[in-house]
Amino acid sequence: MTDQQVLIVGGGHVGLSFALLLAHHGIASTLLEKNSYPEIGPENDRSRSHYLDSRNTALSRRTVQIYQEIGLWSELQSHACRIDAVQISEQGSFGKAQLNKKDERVESFGQVMENAWLGRKLLLAAQNEPLITIIDNAEVVTIGQQSDSVTLTFSYYNGSEDEQQLQGSVLVACDGRDSNIRQLLDIGISTYDYQQTAIVGVVETSMPHEHTAIERFSPAGPLAVLPLTDPDGDGNDDYQKGHRRSVVWVCPTGEEQQYLEDDVHFLATLQQAFGERAGKFTAAGRRGAYPLTRVLAKSQVDGRCVIMGNAAHTLHPVAGQGFNLCMRDAHVLAQMMSTQVMKGADIGDISLLKRYAKSRQTDQKRVIRFCDAVVHGFTHPNPAIKLARNVALVAFDKLPNIKPLVATYAMGLKS
Ligand SMILES: Cc1cc2nc3c(=O)[nH]c(=O)nc-3n(C[C@H](O)[C@H](O)[C@H](O)COP(=O)(O)OP(=O)(O)OC[C@H]3O[C@@H](n4cnc5c(N)ncnc54)[C@H](O)[C@@H]3O)c2cc1C
Repeated sequence: MTDQQVLIVGGGHVGLSFALLLAHHGIASTLLEKNSYPEIGPENDRSRSHYLDSRNTALSRRTVQIYQEIGLWSELQSHACRIDAVQISEQGSFGKAQLNKKDERVESFGQVMENAWLGRKLLLAAQNEPLITIIDNAEVVTIGQQSDSVTLTFSYYNGSEDEQQLQGSVLVACDGRDSNIRQLLDIGISTYDYQQTAIVGVVETSMPHEHTAIERFSPAGPLAVLPLTDPDGDGNDDYQKGHRRSVVWVCPTGEEQQYLEDDVHFLATLQQAFGERAGKFTAAGRRGAYPLTRVLAKSQVDGRCVIMGNAAHTLHPVAGQGFNLCMRDAHVLAQMMSTQVMKGADIGDISLLKRYAKSRQTDQKRVIRFCDAVVHGFTHPNPAIKLARNVALVAFDKLPNIKPLVATYAMGLKS
């Protein structure tokens, strides 16, 4: 236990997870969230998403291990679906590759989790944790840095608009892609507009998913189809078990409207791009659209302030790596702060924060490069590049030493 405390701004999945990681090490935090959190009533599984209406995140094995480490996985796993196999293929081409958990001797490659459930469980755990103070409806106005502390002035919308102050040893900004803290600290960004939009939704297929995640590259754009758990307790038992899948489909920006509004057109185009490997696409839930821009903070540390989560690096979702990378960052920083506490030293010490940022560079750069290679490599129309990527897929499938290495990275087990 220490009387030093961390100020966290932004209570999305990364901010809440980081607060829980700190609490696991006995470090107190105050978390400021701009929006108002919903009331979470007594435990009731009926609150889960409707059968075909949920947003989902693929959690790597490493992320699952981190939640296991802080004792949260047992709470989360009822709404998570194991990934036992990964298939990669391209429409109209010969190259394909498959990873199986048995061949790679792993329990699974990861889990697909309903976002609403993850958010609800993280919030409940944080609300029940005495070392975490949550202030929602709060927005930071100024940041002051002193030699031994950082001070935040924030507006607090509680009917009347008050300004209040908080002091801590260190500030960690988890306030998302358009981070206000990053702007207040005058930290620059580099951006790249992919000119693509991700269409996200849930579908039902005539064949069961059998815990297989499928990455399919088609002229209409890259497509990830992931297995989902069956809903239970929502009063709707009118579905086939094991046939629910999450879809992330990336299309050129400007083309998304046709997929959002018209279910029949969406299902028919999906079927054409995907083929029959899942049988027929029989139903689709509401879709959401996310314009895709890579945003990288030019620095992740400024004095006693750290930029984390999407505020530090917002990536293309095609390989399902963004949140998993954020969780590895959060885990490392919490661990380093814990070691500092054990030494009786300052958790906001600038050299510690710089060491943290340096230690995360290799993993971050590798993931950023990997996501971009997948996006550009698999969407390039040039026939020579198309041939090269199909040869690469075949080589990947056949060469004995490559698959375990790629699987290890994809599972987030090597950084
Ligand atoms: C379509 C899509 C699919 C994805 N799929 C995957 C996947 O399968 N696997 C994976 O690993 N990643 C995936 N990602 C990436 C993942 O969603 C993000 O990396 C993750 O959500 C980042 O969380 P965050 O908490 O950093 O940011 P956010 O989720 O943006 O949360 C930021 C929080 O800060 C709050 N906030 C904002 N401004 C302020 C302020 N001024 N003051 C206080 N609070 C503020 C917001 O209200 C919010 O609560 C996907 C992304 C997309 C777009």
